[in-house]
Amino acid sequence: MMGGGFFGGWHRGRQDRPTRITRAMLLRITRYFEPYWREGVLVITIVAVVAGIGLVPALLIRAVVDVAIPQADPLLLAYLALGMVAAPAAGGLLGVAQTYLNAQISQRVMFDLRNQLYVHLQSLSLRFFTGVKTGEVMSRLNNDVSGISRVVNETITQSLMQPLLLISTVILMLGMEWRLALLSLVVVPVALGSARRVGERRFELQHEAQRKQADLSAIMQETLNISGFLLMKAFAREAYEQVRFVGKNRELMDVQVRSNMLGRWLRMLLQVMEALGPALIYLVGGHLVLSGQMTLGTLIAFIALLNRLYGPMSQLANIHVEAMGSLALFERIFEYLDTQPDVADAIDARPIPAPVRGHIVFHEVDFEYVPGRRVLDGVSFEVEPGQLVALVGPSGAGKTTVTYLIPRFYDVTGGRVEIDGKDVRKVTLRSLREHVGVVTQETYLFNATVRENLRYARPGATDEEIERACVAARLDDVIAQMPDGFDTPVGERGYRLSGGEKQRLAIARVLLKDPRMLVLDEATSSLDSQTEAQIQSALGPLITGRTTIAIAHRLSTVLAADTLVVFDRGHVVEVGNHAQLIDRGGLYAQLYNIQFKPQLTGARPSLASPTADGLTERSSDPASRDQGLAASTV
Ligand code: ATP
Repeated sequence: MMGGGFFGGWHRGRQDRPTRITRAMLLRITRYFEPYWREGVLVITIVAVVAGIGLVPALLIRAVVDVAIPQADPLLLAYLALGMVAAPAAGGLLGVAQTYLNAQISQRVMFDLRNQLYVHLQSLSLRFFTGVKTGEVMSRLNNDVSGISRVVNETITQSLMQPLLLISTVILMLGMEWRLALLSLVVVPVALGSARRVGERRFELQHEAQRKQADLSAIMQETLNISGFLLMKAFAREAYEQVRFVGKNRELMDVQVRSNMLGRWLRMLLQVMEALGPALIYLVGGHLVLSGQMTLGTLIAFIALLNRLYGPMSQLANIHVEAMGSLALFERIFEYLDTQPDVADAIDARPIPAPVRGHIVFHEVDFEYVPGRRVLDGVSFEVEPGQLVALVGPSGAGKTTVTYLIPRFYDVTGGRVEIDGKDVRKVTLRSLREHVGVVTQETYLFNATVRENLRYARPGATDEEIERACVAARLDDVIAQMPDGFDTPVGERGYRLSGGEKQRLAIARVLLKDPRMLVLDEATSSLDSQTEAQIQSALGPLITGRTTIAIAHRLSTVLAADTLVVFDRGHVVEVGNHAQLIDRGGLYAQLYNIQFKPQLTGARPSLASPTADGLTERSSDPASRDQGLAASTV
């Protein structure tokens, strides 16, 4: 019903971009409905029966006027009157069944599509999510998928029902009195043409309204979440945000008003048409009755049938606009479904061979986020199993990017990253990520209990294991003080935990996962001496026995590192341990003086504490990292 030339060619699905309707796309949509074809057949049957039943009242009216009244037959009159109630009642009952079936079909198609879309979005890489607005992804997953229900209930059902209503009505009219039937159709082209034009314009306005609505949602999303809200308050930008919001809100209102008014004009036009039709029928039909060529009952039945003629006409005039909207909906969903994950398992991918040693090598690695803008250039370095390598360098040098390439959050654009002699692109993502743990600067916590957040790392972990991890991460005291211990919910984005506590929770999470390799992006935030000490002491068990690549922000970490790899503008500029690099007097020596030494000399007053003392001792002895970290646990 949706095929053929009707949808052929270019149409304006979205105002900003035309939608190309192809046979392949229609087939693809049909495939989602295929599993529910039985329900579909039932719906079509019901629609056909309802269309037939709808004709009955007109026939009954004719019988009342032409038979029951002239023959003065009260019993027949009663039966006919009963029929006039029974027919719509039967139609209504069938309508209920049809709504039920429609809901079944649409909800199941939505269920399937939403699942498919969610699973697919999960398979996409970080690159996809840094490139789109979160709100937009949510909108497609929610609104566009929900729109499918309208597609089923309105577009598909209506494009089945209205032609059936129309055809059955025209056939009956032609059968009753062909001249009057033709006359009824005279006003049709005028009504159709105007309804269609107005419908298209209205569709455009609705799209504009949707875009404005999306802009408005974006502002709300940006300013009414915790971080955005804090930013707004901190910079006292409420007034600016209000102006922005009110402006967009006004644009939305204007479009809505225009859209509503347009609909009003269409209704007025149709009202005139609806008045014109019966007037013509009475005029000409009246003459036919007077001249004895037609019965009065037929005339009245005709008038009754007129509504069934003009209603479907105006609906059909806009059905293609509706259909375009529906297709645009599918198009937006398909656009996401067709986005290929740029990081995926190779066809011949194998798990990392056991036992995993954790030997990481970067071979001449190049990387670009944006084509043509190299962020890493010929980066080579090696991390022996169990070693701690600290990445240091000025901001924007590419340290975080290096860490992204190990668990394949992104793929290299040149060279290769190897783990135990295997290119990471040749091993399965699952096994790779199983063996690489990541502690990021910002700790994300789900809105769930402490236990649930911890168990996310290893769903099978026992309570004892969870407790052990928390002891090692120096989190046990914090949890003991919580109102419900491990069952205390941590609020929206873990907001009720302090920064230091969140970091330790992140450490406990990775301890539970127990990966062979660890990527650690140390938090830059200044912490008080006690928290600092706690975190350092939590890092000890985290790092011990694991190959670790750390973006170092703490003195203790650079001192403990087996090797420091110094980055500058995407290049490795120095490699060596702390003492060697200090002797060299290069970039690291400078960085050390600016970034790390102040921690030592007590430039931060809070560090004039046992922790700092412990580190002072170690600074003259940049020994093995275990010792270094142990020292910092004081
Ligand atoms: P910092 O210590 O400040 O975190 P960094 O050394 O970790 O810095 P990276 O985050 O790796 O530096 O960034 C390296 C370069 O890549 C920077 O110039 C940054 O602007 C750019 N960059 C980072 N992420 C993206 C992205 N998603 N798209 C485009 N460019 C990016």
